Amino acid sequence: MKHDADILIVGGGLNGPCLALALAQAGISSMIIDALPQEARGSDTFDGRSYAVALASTRMLDALGLWETLHANAQPILEIKASDGRAGEGPAPWFLHFDHAEIEEGPMGHMLQDRFLRQALLQAIDDAPLITHLPGARVIAQGVGTVTLEDRRSLSGRMLVGADGRSSGTAERAGIKRTGWNYGQTALVCAISHERPHHGIAHQFFMPPGPLAILPLPGNRSSIVWSETHAMAARIAAMDDADYLDVLRPRFGDFLGDIGLAGKRHSYPLSLTIANAFVAPRLALVGDAAHGVHPIAGQGLNLGLRDVAALAQVLTDAKRRGEDIAASDVLARYQTWRRFDTATLAVATDAFNRLFSNDNPLLRAGRDIGMGLVGAMPVLRRGFMRQAAGLTGDLPRLMQGRAL
Ligand SMILES: Cc1cc2nc3c(=O)[nH]c(=O)nc-3n(C[C@H](O)[C@H](O)[C@H](O)COP(=O)(O)OP(=O)(O)OC[C@H]3O[C@@H](n4cnc5c(N)ncnc54)[C@H](O)[C@@H]3O)c2cc1C
Repeated sequence: MKHDADILIVGGGLNGPCLALALAQAGISSMIIDALPQEARGSDTFDGRSYAVALASTRMLDALGLWETLHANAQPILEIKASDGRAGEGPAPWFLHFDHAEIEEGPMGHMLQDRFLRQALLQAIDDAPLITHLPGARVIAQGVGTVTLEDRRSLSGRMLVGADGRSSGTAERAGIKRTGWNYGQTALVCAISHERPHHGIAHQFFMPPGPLAILPLPGNRSSIVWSETHAMAARIAAMDDADYLDVLRPRFGDFLGDIGLAGKRHSYPLSLTIANAFVAPRLALVGDAAHGVHPIAGQGLNLGLRDVAALAQVLTDAKRRGEDIAASDVLARYQTWRRFDTATLAVATDAFNRLFSNDNPLLRAGRDIGMGLVGAMPVLRRGFMRQAAGLTGDLPRLMQGRAL
């Protein structure tokens, strides 16, 4: 049977294009279908969104030929400081300090603005002969290896990949149920300009309603992910810029001098959502379509890139062995590889958020002592740093910086 491409990828956000680029290296063709027009996904104005991209993910972006372009605009994360805090009080005396100089691999990760990542991906998929890109095309129905678009066009491939985000229609149409819950928190996200340099240091303040992450961007700017209860976040989001900054200042502190807004403000209600299966007949899920986790550890995209690297490796190895790449036993290898890792990270970020997002004096004292202890033990500290850098576990070849 003649197919439109080997793989139909529903979703051209971040993980979908990375998968297409990886598969192209192995001679596997793909078609990326995304409901949004190209202009909406490739705007070059800074809208305030950024990602903490772990070292293993930057190795993968390098193996996909993207890092050389991205590197010039990325900010290395040289140190991480994490502490308890309350608005107006500044950080508690016990804090955790991770310095990249303690591990030989280099910076634990880089901060990357969303616009640069999306532009680099769109350019790369347009340049790749084995990738077809259908922007502005919404999938409304699917069969085994087939999709139907809103304009009634039908497309077929040897298999489908759902890279269509947290509310994955691909998973739903395949009958895959999800497990998860709402955190009762909303993340307020924006970029901040400040008077003093950040020296590549990322800060995490654990406030009672939720964490406040201050992540370094190039120049005197930082990206913030500020979690509040839904009600409080809605009130803050409705404020004008001046009032918004007045609420942020006592939480942020004055260690970087005065602050201002540098881009648009965003709000994301936070929830945990994991697909009960990552595969179905001739179908696999990657990225947020498979799992959406709390941003407390900045691992959502990194987790998705691990899916992409693992799936690309499983399919490539199957192709080299002459197997049907979409056979159920091939896809089962992908699911076995990724489900455990995902569940572990989801449980860890969930527990971490529950432990730190409250003002119980006993828990507060306990976690301050815990942070002091970890800080005093170099072996544990280095273990945390390698974890944050994405260097632990069964790493796919692309994440080791090796060819597929
Ligand atoms: C506040 C916050 C902060 C974060 N910070 C970090 C961080 O620092 N580091 C990190 O690693 N991760 C972070 N994340 C997580 C990261 O943003 C996500 O994991 C990542 O964006 C998911 O990418 P994706 O490609 O899987 O899905 P998406 O980016 O959601 O893309 C899905 C695509 O599918 C398309 N689509 C949907 N339905 C259809 C359809 N029917 N037909 C065609 N197309 C369709 C959509 O148009 C969209 O383009 C953060 C998340 C939040 C909420």
